[in-house]
Amino acid sequence: MRPSEITQLLAGADDAGLFSAAQALTRENFGDEVFLRGVVEFSNHCDNNCRYCGLRRANRQIHRYRLTVEEIVACAALARELSLGTVVVQSGDDYTYSKEDIGRVVTGAKATADVAVTLSLGDRTKEDFLYWRDVGADRYLLKIETFDEALYAASRPGLTLADRLARVEWLRRAGYEVGSGIITDLPGMTPDILADDLLRLSELDLDMIAVGPFVPSPDTPYGTKPAGSVLTAFRAMAILRLLNPLANIPSTSALNALRDGAREQGLTVGANVIMPSLTPETVGADYAIYPGKNAFRADAASRLEAARAAIRRVGRTPSTAIGGSKRRHHG
Ligand code: SAH
Ligand code: SF4
Repeated sequence: MRPSEITQLLAGADDAGLFSAAQALTRENFGDEVFLRGVVEFSNHCDNNCRYCGLRRANRQIHRYRLTVEEIVACAALARELSLGTVVVQSGDDYTYSKEDIGRVVTGAKATADVAVTLSLGDRTKEDFLYWRDVGADRYLLKIETFDEALYAASRPGLTLADRLARVEWLRRAGYEVGSGIITDLPGMTPDILADDLLRLSELDLDMIAVGPFVPSPDTPYGTKPAGSVLTAFRAMAILRLLNPLANIPSTSALNALRDGAREQGLTVGANVIMPSLTPETVGADYAIYPGKNAFRADAASRLEAARAAIRRVGRTPSTAIGGSKRRHHG
């Protein structure tokens, strides 16, 4: 796809054609199955100050929590009990968990349950990445957020695009299935930046690609900026599906935060994955990256059942498979 074609599709030149082509390609490669990943958001402490995120260090308005290694492992066991093939272990950039602590999360989860373990802990060291891979971690999710250097620097003070890209490369070399992604409609993002982001993301040849629209979060510098467009996020997901036929593409919870039901609709524009939260109810609402995240305060089993019902509503089948990368295993 040429950049000009992408720009036109992002502007809405052919939504019907774009969405049906993305859906057809998804069904061709994944059939009716939608993979489920249980997400354990184990700490909302963060050393960084991303201007868009409610977990930023400078935000004194949220109640901070940390789960113990044992509590995180118990969530992995719950994932298996609920027939989930993957747990995603996510947090703010919280370095109080040592390399060994996270290692015990990985080995504990693997010992307790036959699940794939995805880590999403932000900007850790190369040594950490290698160690966790050695002890059995399968995947790592590290979103680039945007490939525009100036916008990146403005959105993530003190951090650089080059550094984030280097980490993605380390992860790949360490042998992880690597996921990355962007935030659409991040304040300052132009249509040209977004088109370029989609192309560059596709050049990374990723196993998973996550696109979420910007959701304004109170008590952050971007709290009064306009919310992202659900439609733009759908167009971005569909274009990414066409450019990355075999990648696992989740329909993100940010979509539902903006419009109820948008997450299931995302399954009709190229997504093949849903990631319900398994975070214990006692702390889930505090994982306030943006408002509406974990708004649905039910227990993990009911949240999962709601996700399965949403999948069935759009005519698909909730899968219990581990759902590894097709890009690597060629089916
Ligand atoms: N600290 C880690 C992982 C947790 S944040 C990291 O930053 O990589 C997980 C994701 O939440 C980020 O990658 C970002 O894309 C998303 N996010 C944060 N604030 C957001 C907002 N206001 N709207 C939409 N997505 C947001
Ligand atoms: Fe921290 Fe991640 Fe939020 Fe940035 S996006 S403030 S690194 S949790």
